[in-house]
Amino acid sequence: MSTSGTPTIPDDLDFDPDALRAKYREERDRRLRTDGRLHHQRPEGRFGYYAEDPYTGAETPRSPLTDQVDVVVVGGGFGGLLAASRLRQAGVQRIRVIEKGGDFGGTWYWNRYPGIHCDIESYVYLPLLEEVGTVPEWKYSPGAEILRHAQAIARKYDLYRDACFRTAVRELRWDERTAEWVVGTDREDRIRARHVVVSHGTLDQPKLPGIPGIDTFRGHTFHTSRWDYDYTGGSADGGLVGLADRRVALIGTGATAIQVVPHLGRDSQHLYVFQRTPSSVDTRGNRRTDPAWVRTLTPGWQRRRRDNFLAVVSGERVEEDLVGDGWTSSARLLQKLIPTDAYTGLSPEERETADEIADFQKMNEIRARVAAEIDDPTTAEALKPWYRYLCKRPTFSDEYLATFNRENVTLVDTADHGGVERLTETGVVVGDREYEVDCVIFATGFEVGMSDVLRGRLPVHGRGGLALLEYWREGPRTLHGFYSHGFPNLFHLGALHKAASVNFVHVLDEQATHIAEVVAEARRRGALVEPTAGAEAAWVDDLGRNAPDQYRFQSECTPGYYNNEGRPRPRGGTYADGPVAFHRLLRRWRAEGGMDEVLGASS
Ligand code: NAP
Repeated sequence: MSTSGTPTIPDDLDFDPDALRAKYREERDRRLRTDGRLHHQRPEGRFGYYAEDPYTGAETPRSPLTDQVDVVVVGGGFGGLLAASRLRQAGVQRIRVIEKGGDFGGTWYWNRYPGIHCDIESYVYLPLLEEVGTVPEWKYSPGAEILRHAQAIARKYDLYRDACFRTAVRELRWDERTAEWVVGTDREDRIRARHVVVSHGTLDQPKLPGIPGIDTFRGHTFHTSRWDYDYTGGSADGGLVGLADRRVALIGTGATAIQVVPHLGRDSQHLYVFQRTPSSVDTRGNRRTDPAWVRTLTPGWQRRRRDNFLAVVSGERVEEDLVGDGWTSSARLLQKLIPTDAYTGLSPEERETADEIADFQKMNEIRARVAAEIDDPTTAEALKPWYRYLCKRPTFSDEYLATFNRENVTLVDTADHGGVERLTETGVVVGDREYEVDCVIFATGFEVGMSDVLRGRLPVHGRGGLALLEYWREGPRTLHGFYSHGFPNLFHLGALHKAASVNFVHVLDEQATHIAEVVAEARRRGALVEPTAGAEAAWVDDLGRNAPDQYRFQSECTPGYYNNEGRPRPRGGTYADGPVAFHRLLRRWRAEGGMDEVLGASS
């Protein structure tokens, strides 16, 4: 750091930044493609079985519901659970959660693949720990523990009583006469609700790549989010005995594959892992919760820890890093290079230089780990990620890399072919080679970040029958991402027009608390919740004006869903100053009379 406030690049760098920049460009270009294999097919029609629910038996017939409730919550994942719990705490009685799956849990209901864990520390990820009166058993919880906790929250707040499972909401229509929403479902329900909270998940639609021949393969196939234990044997803890004499192909190497591969490698006769882009794989260090540590916890501990984690990963200055793991240490990289308070007075260019150097150092460490762990140099080279740390979701594992040293595991690098090229009746084709397999497992992810409302799968009709997507045809219009003019008493949870974070459940909890307070106040006043068109326009303007321009960063990234497959979208859409500032803004808005802005007309 120079005395003028200008960062100096350390002169003892043990790498050449220009050479790395060139290598990153070259690796990105290898993967950019323009043909149809970038497209995905929906698990619908003849692919519908990829999305079927393997966990809950046949639907039990029931009569359509035509009753009236205070609030319908669409979605029973953590967002919906939090909205319903916070509403319950605020005194709302008749709450109906409507959920496609057979129970609460959302992502953790659907994803039960072998090795499943949350890669965010459980003490900050799992919500309402103090309310439920529990501390997770592991620093990074396995999926089953998370699912059990989701169900414990539902029991604690008596949400099973009115819940509808195996039910998909198909339409929301505002009834001006009664000032209620009429909620139509695929079970012919017509439920009336004063308020509706839409919280469906960002990870509920499995994505299948548009690989030619995908429907001609005659072996067995499924998606990781609908794991077929009847076929593989075993459980989320492993022991996949059904694969002992099977050749298995796994397509995809994202955060899910990182957790699945050690089990498939251990138990399959032969495992082929088809990789387009390697993930960055950092150390994990999972461990059981220390009971002595639990005894030191004092009331409010979870809020303090969660706020601390959010602040650290959002780049805020904190005295202490309570979580101290891979997420927080990489967020603090920059502070190692230049103390954060030295940023005052740095130009954007100077800041970008500092960022980039710290990023190169982090990725050099990640690549050195690959070289140290992998025996075969060609495999090691293919497993090295050549891009900036946040171009892709970082991952963590102490077992993934070493799995590729096994005799029965083969890494197939598809980068020069833009992914898997084709499936035949008997195998997977890349370049001039066909890999004959008995089973193809898709670890190809989800349609990330799109709610059914935005996808047009859940039509919403507000005042005068106006369709929400029609009202949003020039782009979404909301106040604070929650509500829109002409659509009274309707709330959206999620990332749209709000601030996101890696600990998304924390962000959802702040949103749920906000909604519960607004609904409680609306009920006290007997008022409808509806922003003016002016307030909404001002919020959208603000988002656009303050949005950082990520275009350059993203276009230099290797293609993937983070950058719309190498074609980044224009700026806007989320709150630029990050989640800590956004939550502060919401609290201040509520405390300083903001509700008067949205609680106008009486109901
Ligand atoms: P993902 O991150 O979307 O990864 C999909 C993988 O499939 C990528 O490696 C992708 O390659 C690959 N792929 C797609 N089409 C392909 C083709 N035609 N040929 C070869 N490869 C192809 O999906 P995911 O791993 O299931 O993760 C989904 C989401 O869940 C992510 O947001 C993740 O962060 C989250 N997750 C979180 C946890 C947690 O512990 N919190 C655990 C698991 C997952 P490219 O990389 O080249 O695109």
